[in-house]
Amino acid sequence: MKELLHQIQELENISEALEPSEQQRKDYHKLILQFSNEFINTIHDRNSFLEVKEPIKGLEITGQENSLEHILNLYNTKVTPNGINPASGGHIGYIPGGGIYASAIGDYIADVSNEYAGVYFGSPGAVTIENEVLDWLKDIFGFPKNAMGNLTSGGSIANLIALTSARDKHKIKGDKINKSVIYLSPQTHHCIDKALRIIGLEDIQLRYLELDEFHRVKINDLTQKIKDDQQNGLHPFLVIASAGTTDTGAVDPLQEIGNIAQENNMWFHVDGAYGGFFILCENKKHLFQGIEMADSLVIDPHKGLFLPYGTGAVLIKDKEAVLHSHHYTANYMQDTVGTDLSMSPAEVSPELTKHFRGLRLWLPLQLHGIKPFIACLDEKILLTDYFRKKLVEMGFEIGPTPDLSVSYFWYPSQKIAQDTYNEKLMKLIHEDGRIFLSSSTIDDRFVIRMAILSFRTKKKTIDKALQMIQDCKNKLEKELSLIHS
Ligand SMILES: *Cc1c(COP(=O)(O)O)cnc(C)c1O
Repeated sequence: MKELLHQIQELENISEALEPSEQQRKDYHKLILQFSNEFINTIHDRNSFLEVKEPIKGLEITGQENSLEHILNLYNTKVTPNGINPASGGHIGYIPGGGIYASAIGDYIADVSNEYAGVYFGSPGAVTIENEVLDWLKDIFGFPKNAMGNLTSGGSIANLIALTSARDKHKIKGDKINKSVIYLSPQTHHCIDKALRIIGLEDIQLRYLELDEFHRVKINDLTQKIKDDQQNGLHPFLVIASAGTTDTGAVDPLQEIGNIAQENNMWFHVDGAYGGFFILCENKKHLFQGIEMADSLVIDPHKGLFLPYGTGAVLIKDKEAVLHSHHYTANYMQDTVGTDLSMSPAEVSPELTKHFRGLRLWLPLQLHGIKPFIACLDEKILLTDYFRKKLVEMGFEIGPTPDLSVSYFWYPSQKIAQDTYNEKLMKLIHEDGRIFLSSSTIDDRFVIRMAILSFRTKKKTIDKALQMIQDCKNKLEKELSLIHS
């Protein structure tokens, strides 16, 4: 007994390091505040992109203790300067992220209190916060209060949950799989294909729809393809619309697609991971008419509400369909039985234990109110317009008027092949790094893409981007004239 107590005491002494004293916590905070203040105060001056070609070394786990100064120093030299700076307003490639400070406060509180947001029984308060957030989302998108919902790690998992529910509602399994048909835009995000393979629908029939000049799906093509498939004895079961495609920001005609889905008894899924929150903008609202008809909807607060990475959301109307694959009971969970299933996030998700991610959305909404979020979205729309107008003044050609805040441009070079010119220009822009833009191939043309969605992207950011593009273009023209002279 004495030996046992001795051993316990010894282990307690060592493991106490995991509970720093108040003074230690204060010292940590000082360093962390210093780090975050420096990071934020200098963010507009630093480059948005640095291409790294060598593997990053020095981050190995040694098992030994280190000072927080040392660790922050590693972070400051190995992590933040390399690759894209996603917290920077200068990230206007791919789909930019956010990183509002209030979410960091929410995460901090969630982590310190470590509330268990998986099951209502465990933390009715935390789960209620998550469900209030979901109710708020249902309100925005015209979903009924009794719809199911979940805060996920991102849009990919949100799409996975929605498609699983669609599959289960229509009992797509066995022989039915290769006779069932999904209709979607060729611009649909690749996480949908990934999800279909994960949920065993690899052999399902996919019909890619024709697009109009604004990259939205053509309704007649949808009706025609459904009709053809029905005549051929196939089973049209799901139509996927995008409320803001990743490549061009196009919003498909949701109302019309919703009507067709209803007429044909099909599941109507809308992926609004990038664009969904633009419904909050008074002069974009009309584009989202019909979104309330969706059986399932995905939105990504870590895109359109400027949260740090790690929060997507899914809303689904059919409760039974959701529970079929996601509800689970186990003996060790028997204490939780009896609470309303729809109240627990674990019943709507592959996850059981999870980060209390509701707080990083709930807290900023409570702290700031909704107004600054909407103003920020409106601002992105206007900045996109400004960027495009300026590019035209500089002699660039631009894609069609975008529905939202993603667009593209290219230089109509007469000297060398257009694609080659723009590829070279893209390379110089990446080498420059002041502002990060990405490229795409649209209608068989190499184009430079801009996606304006970071809350830190301001007019001065766009001016910096224009200056950078001009500088890179001058550099390229100089190189070309040397070659050709
Ligand atoms: C970003 C995006 C996704 C994937 O979401 P993640 O949060 O990256 O997992 C899905 N669909 C669209 C339209 C997107 O823009």
